[in-house]
Amino acid sequence: MNTESFALRHIGVREEDLQKMLEIVGVKSIDELIDQTIPEDIRLKEGLSLPQALSESEFLKFIQNLAEKNRVFKSYIGQGYHESVIPSVIKRNILENPGWYTAYTPYQAEIAQGRLEALLNFQTVVCDLTGMEIANASLLDESTAAAEAMTMLFDLRARDQKKNGVLKFFVSEEVLPQTLSLLETRSAPLGIELVIGNHEKFDFSSEFYGALLQYPGKYGQVHDLEDFIAQAKEHNIKTAVATDIMSLVMLTPPGEWGADVVVGTTQRFGIPLGYGGPHAAFFATKAAYKRNIPGRIIGLTKDTDGNPALRMALQTREQHIKRDKATSNICTAQVLLAVMAGMYAVYHGPKGLKHIANKIHEYTKTVAQSIEAFGFEQLNTVYFDTIRFKVENVHSIRTISESKGINLNYIDDETISISLNEAFTKKDIRPLVNCFVESQALDDDGGIVEYEGQVIPKKLVRKTPFLEHETFNSYHSETDLMRYIKKLERKDLALNHSMISLGSCTMKLNAASEMLPLSWSNWGNIHPFVPVEQAEGYQLVLRDLEQQLNVITGFAATSLQPNSGAQGEYAGLMTIRAYHQSRGDHHRDICLIPSSAHGTNPASAVMAGMKVVVTKTDEQGNIDVLDLEEKVKEHSDNLAALMVTYPSTHGVFESSIRYITKLIHDHGGQVYMDGANMNAQVGLTNPATIGADVCHLNLHKTFAIPHGGGGPGVGPICVAEQLKPFLPSNPLIATGGEKGITAISSAPWGSALACLISYGYIKMLGADGLTDATKIAILNANFIKERLNGAYDVLYTGEQGRAAHEMIIDCRPFKEKGIEVTDIAKRLMDYGFHAPTVSFPVAGTMMIEPTESESLAELNRFCDAMLNIRQEIEQVSAEDANNVLKNAPHTLAMVTSDEWSFPYSRKKAAYPLEYVADNKFWPSVRRTDEAFGDRNLMCTCPAIEEYAEA
Ligand SMILES: *Cc1c(COP(=O)(O)O)cnc(C)c1O
Repeated sequence: MNTESFALRHIGVREEDLQKMLEIVGVKSIDELIDQTIPEDIRLKEGLSLPQALSESEFLKFIQNLAEKNRVFKSYIGQGYHESVIPSVIKRNILENPGWYTAYTPYQAEIAQGRLEALLNFQTVVCDLTGMEIANASLLDESTAAAEAMTMLFDLRARDQKKNGVLKFFVSEEVLPQTLSLLETRSAPLGIELVIGNHEKFDFSSEFYGALLQYPGKYGQVHDLEDFIAQAKEHNIKTAVATDIMSLVMLTPPGEWGADVVVGTTQRFGIPLGYGGPHAAFFATKAAYKRNIPGRIIGLTKDTDGNPALRMALQTREQHIKRDKATSNICTAQVLLAVMAGMYAVYHGPKGLKHIANKIHEYTKTVAQSIEAFGFEQLNTVYFDTIRFKVENVHSIRTISESKGINLNYIDDETISISLNEAFTKKDIRPLVNCFVESQALDDDGGIVEYEGQVIPKKLVRKTPFLEHETFNSYHSETDLMRYIKKLERKDLALNHSMISLGSCTMKLNAASEMLPLSWSNWGNIHPFVPVEQAEGYQLVLRDLEQQLNVITGFAATSLQPNSGAQGEYAGLMTIRAYHQSRGDHHRDICLIPSSAHGTNPASAVMAGMKVVVTKTDEQGNIDVLDLEEKVKEHSDNLAALMVTYPSTHGVFESSIRYITKLIHDHGGQVYMDGANMNAQVGLTNPATIGADVCHLNLHKTFAIPHGGGGPGVGPICVAEQLKPFLPSNPLIATGGEKGITAISSAPWGSALACLISYGYIKMLGADGLTDATKIAILNANFIKERLNGAYDVLYTGEQGRAAHEMIIDCRPFKEKGIEVTDIAKRLMDYGFHAPTVSFPVAGTMMIEPTESESLAELNRFCDAMLNIRQEIEQVSAEDANNVLKNAPHTLAMVTSDEWSFPYSRKKAAYPLEYVADNKFWPSVRRTDEAFGDRNLMCTCPAIEEYAEA
């Protein structure tokens, strides 16, 4: 046994167990199983052409060397990104803690109260600072949040638009360039016309449905927006304001002027720059728009006993139900980063935040005055942290700055802006000022001018208190915060407790060696808009990762820009759109999507300006080829694309896939493959081989980026040669194809920091390890299938009776016993397990995906739990709902209560199998009441009295 092999650590099944498992599955070898699972005609003939695996220690040395190739400058570039100071207590206890980073989106609220509370804190921070009524938890980046504002306001006025042709959206010229680029991308397919201009000269005409302003503006000028917002309101124009969260500690928030939406990023609340991400963006709006808000909102409700409990609110808005009518395609968000930013506010509290904002502002004034003292003209009359100078010799200032390891924002040939941040200290003043002084060959007379006056007029100074809630005024020592974080962590079930077999989500190991580099400042502290030469380490990693993904998918090129799978879908469809348009096929706008597709597919297609045509599924769960043929022929002239998930969301490798992709090509369409199930393909087949043209990969599923409780994600797209020219660009840093579409994300390479994880995963597994991982993932799924055989029906299998890497079990027959799939999900908690995916893609079912990282022992514990639950179902009757399934989950409070009135024992409730006692997990609340919370939406930290009422 080679104990240095990472594959040995990543893959859970031990060699000595393999034979036992193969016997149960009924094959002689794993290759025999794979032959029975994946159709012959799409199998790869050769192994992946990737370098040999590195051991963990080799990888750490290797990545350390690359880290040293990044040159960490003092970056005063601003533009929506600022160096921040991560409190070590948050770094160690959240960012570096699998209890937080390996959890999934809190679908099972009873075992997710910890991160739900942390997200409620985040929403409270956002609402308080922006002056708005409700906020979500969270969006992918500031620019996408701004685009979501543009589209939400558009949808709000959809009826007017049809009647009156109100399609114009005003964008202030002071909006960040990356945001503007993204608005261009997102507006075009919807027919929204962007009008860019000076908001002070805006002529309020009724052709506009909305407007976006930036506060402070992109070069730091703080405008009083009260009049604009008021006038817009008079003209029935809705306003969105993109803002800087730190500045709102000192400035009057746009919410107080009546803005309809306020967006921004929380990066500077203790999140590393990471060469562009991941960071949590926020979206805050009025309560009246609660049903239109994109993304997830955490809300308060009550549990079975009437105790307060949190859960994701208004779930019916999700794409799974609304599909092509969904408000947005956002699925994976930025939960881990939102948790951290919220915790930053908890740690500092209102007083601490004021100290930080004030310090930044005072230093900015000092730097401004000190440079002005040498005769330079500072152009911002009102500013928070960003000043702007008119200079004669940008070039020489740049040369001097770079020689001092300083980056400024070089706006044009005669203007420079400087943005200060929390990390700025007194020692940084002199070198910064000297960049200007030396460029003029002026004598440095040693003067640092501390300016005592006010640069923010009284009217713009924030007067409203914020973060008065107890949570933000209780944990200001490290001991207290450490314990608060632990208290929340204990309420959540994550991968460090037990297997999370969420089908389609691929909850595999997120190895410590993959995660370690994320804590290093040479990766963390790089601004996304530095000259690429400064980020050589990153450039090498990103290029290499793109190349690895090309090899794995069989495609020609990769863009790492999308920050989630759904964003990848959108990006991929937009490249298809650009391809058709480049050939003059502007009319091709039909997107075929099988009914079993993930809800983000239709939502993304609509965003890309396509019309969704749903195709049927046959009884075996495969694409109904006859129906598909009919629809392809019917729409032949206008066919843009087929979106297909492979292996399908039914957990099957459809054998007709090559026929299907050819059919689409024959009719002029392109094939988009949803790569969420790539864990069943790597090394054995690939999207190019099945005949797709583009796919996204969820690096946070197949390639080991942790789910973070619902994000971050990285959703790169890989494309065939003909789509390569259209890969997304960035307005500030050259990236993407020659005819690249405009931006999909704020940053040129999306969430570059998180890419290090997938890079480590591929580097340490190598070609063989990656392929073995796929094989074992398929073996583990088929092992569960065999063990559950007879107790649960598996809905769909391949032609030879095999599952792919996941399977769907049918829970609908138990309805005659009064048992719903939810009851099984909740009962699993009593056994210490997180439920598999519930009711996707088929209502009333569970989709189980064990992944390769689980051992035989853990698979057996899970199967034992499922089989025991099956017996419990036998024992209940539909007439009496007072049973162990309906009452699940059972909390510690119930089981230790002086009273016990249930018709089964406490032991049966809490320790239904022997192994449970050894590693008991206690759900912290009883079943949450969805309807109550939706009727009484409350999504900021409640006052104590409100808790009492709930
Ligand atoms: C997870 C998933 C998506 C969406 O990916 P996100 O990263 O959550 O946006 C799309 N399709 C399928 C089949 C998925 O499982």
